[in-house]
Amino acid sequence: AESGGGGRKKPNILVTGTPGTGKTTTSSLLAEATLLRHVNVGDLVRDKNLHDGWDDQLDCHVINEDLVCDELEDMMEEGGNIVDYHGCDFFPERWFDLVAVLQTENSVLYDRLSKRGYTGSKLTNNIECEIFQVLLEEAKDSYPEDIVVALQSDTVDDINRNVTTLTDWVRSWCPKPE
Ligand code: ADP
Ligand code: MN
Repeated sequence: AESGGGGRKKPNILVTGTPGTGKTTTSSLLAEATLLRHVNVGDLVRDKNLHDGWDDQLDCHVINEDLVCDELEDMMEEGGNIVDYHGCDFFPERWFDLVAVLQTENSVLYDRLSKRGYTGSKLTNNIECEIFQVLLEEAKDSYPEDIVVALQSDTVDDINRNVTTLTDWVRSWCPKPE
């Protein structure tokens, strides 16, 4: 896909990472600080039925990627969005000015997901996803290298630092010439 600013006046940021790494917490704080719009794709899929039913194996909705992209297109073209999702390979490359991949140390993530009620293969699949840096690889395969950043998200201090870093980035972002 073609990349570049596409004439938007405000940037679009993708916040991705394994479930439990802090995407929603980070995105909502970033939205408060920047007044950009927080788009929680998981909630959108559920609320607008952008799925093809329930996956019993993975215990989550089978997301319909085409419906999600159609739903988001106008908003993304306008700019000013923080997109929060645990996947990134099906969004058009041209949508994003920055892709932040949150990462969490395995034992910390294990505790967070256990607290969330994850057990068995759902828990171990997500821990393996983090160990093998699946989302970082997916981001690097899907977007230009220079817009992908990995951010550690183990502690509350990490969250605060990441929100500050991303807020500074938003404030210094300039629209690209068309
Ligand atoms: P995600 O949206 O990536 O699944 P959440 O933002 O919902 O993750 O965070 C999952 C849980 O872990 C929440 O209870 C949140 O408060 C906690 N959490 C997330 N990131 C951190 C962090 N860096 N430090 C401490 N707690 C965190
Ligand atoms: Mn979330």
